[in-house]
Amino acid sequence: MSGNRRDLDPLDWAGFEAHAAELLHSAVMQLAGAKDGPVWQPFPEDMQADMQAELPIEGAGYQAVAAQLAGLLPYGVGNTHPRFFGWVHGSGGAASLLAEIAAAAMNANLGGRDHGAMYVEKQVVAWVRQMFGFPKTASGLVVSGTSMATIVALKAARDARLDARASGVGAHKLVGYASNQAHNCVARAFDMLGLGSDALRAVPVNAAFEMDIVALRKMMAADRAAGLEPFMLVGTAGSVNVGAFDDLAALADIAKAEGLWLHIDGAFGAAGVLSDVLRPRLKGIERADSVAFDFHKWLHVNYDAGFVLVRDEALHRAAFEGAPDYLASSDRGLAAGRPWPVDYGPELSRGFRVLKIWAQIAALGTEALGTAISRNCAQAKLLAEMVDAAPSLERLAPVASSVVVFAHVSGDAVTEEIVLRLQEGGLAVPSITTVNGRRAVRVNITNHRTRDEDLRVLMDGVRGVEVF
Ligand SMILES: *Cc1c(COP(=O)(O)O)cnc(C)c1O
Repeated sequence: MSGNRRDLDPLDWAGFEAHAAELLHSAVMQLAGAKDGPVWQPFPEDMQADMQAELPIEGAGYQAVAAQLAGLLPYGVGNTHPRFFGWVHGSGGAASLLAEIAAAAMNANLGGRDHGAMYVEKQVVAWVRQMFGFPKTASGLVVSGTSMATIVALKAARDARLDARASGVGAHKLVGYASNQAHNCVARAFDMLGLGSDALRAVPVNAAFEMDIVALRKMMAADRAAGLEPFMLVGTAGSVNVGAFDDLAALADIAKAEGLWLHIDGAFGAAGVLSDVLRPRLKGIERADSVAFDFHKWLHVNYDAGFVLVRDEALHRAAFEGAPDYLASSDRGLAAGRPWPVDYGPELSRGFRVLKIWAQIAALGTEALGTAISRNCAQAKLLAEMVDAAPSLERLAPVASSVVVFAHVSGDAVTEEIVLRLQEGGLAVPSITTVNGRRAVRVNITNHRTRDEDLRVLMDGVRGVEVF
């Protein structure tokens, strides 16, 4: 079929449609049966071998490739399964499947210009502003995830303070603050922006793993006394280790009084603005200068789908805008509609990621998405009760949102063994972390498919391991 082909498109579109329909059927069955089978299984050796083939000179054709794609379906991370509780993964959804079909047929580039896809992104930016109570003038950008969103937000914060775009940062005196529970993406952004990760101070936390405000004030005063220039404060809304929320309203007060840029890392927790249970914990986020969060975590859009929201559009644009000749815009025609996404971030070519986000919100609405978050919070509390009732287990942190961390009383080795056996057996996937110096089973429930029964299965599994 493929030898000497001059046409890259299918030679027989009807045949192509039949293969595509078969693959679509397999994909829908995969999603419909998300709870069947093991949560995770190793990628079979013969399939690993298939992925070590020589560079093909002649293609195998669309039919063969469609069959190979269908074969991959069962070997994901496992995060579509109701008993996936590892790290912080969203569980994804059917709306993304629809969106990806349309996006694949359009092959739109969302770096800029005036075409239908751009209006979808504008719509989602407007929806995000509304979600967080930001003014209509705020700007936003769809990115791969919170790590990238953090780089974009922190660049806007840096450039608002330092004239560094052309000259580089040089010897600078800027320092920022985040709790010692903040995600590593913040320190990485400081590194990549030339500020250096040492310029990010790690503020201690209280017993609830929230930033210690008294310690923050002391550290800031000491830095000022040393001639340094505090310029930003990073609040965490949903810490990756234990799911804690900093007191964002208190941070907003301090940022205002001290003239700091307030950035919120709400990778999964910011979605809590849609949940009656978590909304009170997010009070103050509407006063932030920037927010980074993911649609691919607690809002269950398929990977990858992150977002950065910036209060001051002019400062956001000032950090990225540039006008090379080949990107000149016009008032009419396809090159109209400036500013474009390229004016708000580092990427020029950008896929139609936002379509998945739009489809998820349009299909399900914010109420159902928020209710699923609230249900996960209730499930985390339920699991905590079960852990507390088990004499051989010890809970290591209060439950603030979706995360429960606990250890086996016999020590770190047994605690780790529990997690590894659950993963390898395919029964459930928690992950391992360290809390206050102790190894912990970490169960994070950002999963709309989890039912209370799944938590009982998990606990039976934990008890089953203990027998050994
Ligand atoms: C997941 C996570 C990140 C990183 O987000 P990515 O989308 O993986 O880049 C940052 N902060 C927190 C709190 C997270 O949970």
